[in-house]
Amino acid sequence: MFAFDNSYARLPARFYTKMAPTPVAAPGWIALNEGLAREMGLDPEALRVAPEVFAGNRVPEGAVPLAQLYAGHQFGGWSPQLGDGRAILLGEHVADGRRWDVALKGSGPTPYSRMGDGRAAIGPVIREYLVSEAMHALGVPTTRALAAVTTGETVLRQEGPLPGAVLTRVAASHIRVGTFQVFAARDDTEALGSLLDHAIARHAPGADGPMGLLRAVMEKQARLVAQWMGLGFVHGVMNTDNMTISGETIDYGPCAYMEAYHPDTVFSSIDQFGRYAWSKQPDIALWNLAQLATALLPLMGAREAAVAEATEVLEGFRDLYTAAWEDVMSAKIGLRDMELAMELLAILAEGQGDFTNSFRALSVDPGAARDQVLNRGRFDDWFARWRARGPDFDAMAQANPALIPRNHQVEAAIAAAETGDLAPFHALGAQLADPWHETEANAPYRVPATPAERVTRTFC
Ligand code: AMP
Ligand code: MG
Ligand code: MG
Repeated sequence: MFAFDNSYARLPARFYTKMAPTPVAAPGWIALNEGLAREMGLDPEALRVAPEVFAGNRVPEGAVPLAQLYAGHQFGGWSPQLGDGRAILLGEHVADGRRWDVALKGSGPTPYSRMGDGRAAIGPVIREYLVSEAMHALGVPTTRALAAVTTGETVLRQEGPLPGAVLTRVAASHIRVGTFQVFAARDDTEALGSLLDHAIARHAPGADGPMGLLRAVMEKQARLVAQWMGLGFVHGVMNTDNMTISGETIDYGPCAYMEAYHPDTVFSSIDQFGRYAWSKQPDIALWNLAQLATALLPLMGAREAAVAEATEVLEGFRDLYTAAWEDVMSAKIGLRDMELAMELLAILAEGQGDFTNSFRALSVDPGAARDQVLNRGRFDDWFARWRARGPDFDAMAQANPALIPRNHQVEAAIAAAETGDLAPFHALGAQLADPWHETEANAPYRVPATPAERVTRTFC
């Protein structure tokens, strides 16, 4: 089924706990991502007949299942031990010279579960499936969803008992900033060194030691966060354990795309102080990278010189991010002028116009963008100056999607799935696969939430 080569399992035993997923009562399909399966050189037919593999009831041949150890800063507070509390890495599937982690999420308790039950409810599984696949279709590096299955069991959550599910997450790797942090905190320099070599081999071949890896991760994260920003994406839980070394988006918990544009937008119910608001994301990325640098310090030689050099490297993030953000915004307005771009954002913020539809209108039906703003006079003035500059509409149409996963639609798909109706989930997923065209079929999904439908709070 898979062609596993398990390099993480060959790292020292203190990196993980080798263990199989906990079987569930009755595996049943929610979805199999046939496109991704083919991309991975897998036969969808062979996967389709084996839901028990994706439920954790049967460990596929060649797998060396394990739960990974990591730590992390959660909302700025240090948690010395996190780890896969409800996930099991089955192994690394290798095809066409590419390597993918294949992991089950919601696969039962592990030594890292703390107070949790090790399980996932169908809602978060469906959200991660829809939003991570949409993210991929939008051209943003992300973990993917290969499969989702029901368990035939219920999980107890605040809302009450809910159907359980397991997501199969595919990733370039699951190495996080927090993976380095856990060994740094334990003064385990030997483990840090092994992890560094492993991470460089997988994600930054040719990088020169810890400083080289830091630079490579900074570049990837600067581009990633700029892409999120350009799509109005609010990750919601940018803890250091949710930031990958690969530069892929990971952990679709309380995440959401903005509809009405405002830079202070926060959705997560647990983000009381707006630490992870839309506009804060670049600063938080830098904060997380500083934690990575701190964790790598023991590998950087004489401490004082290392601190000075790492600080200098980190100071480069501003420029990296600014360049990435300028690229993103230049594509969005079809020309390179950050003053014009920022002015447009300010105009949108005034009226809280729909972020996605405003930029899309400007790209494909420029006059219609006016309907999205409140201050028409200020917009007309901006529009005349912008238009006179000859924006590149082709570039704009490729940078400004027609479709994003809107929260109320994701929530509607979840609510239906909780009652056993997967049709809204499949219908929404099918449309999100092509966010770059207006079609009759995706028209209903391009409409922002009405005030009554609007989702203002998300839960993980
Ligand atoms: P997150 O906020 O999603 O990044 O998760 C933080 C930590 O909580 C990770 O170590 C997760 O594995 C763990 N966790 C989240 N939900 C559960 C659960 N239901 N059971 C066990 N561990 C969990
Ligand atoms: Mg997480
Ligand atoms: Mg999570």
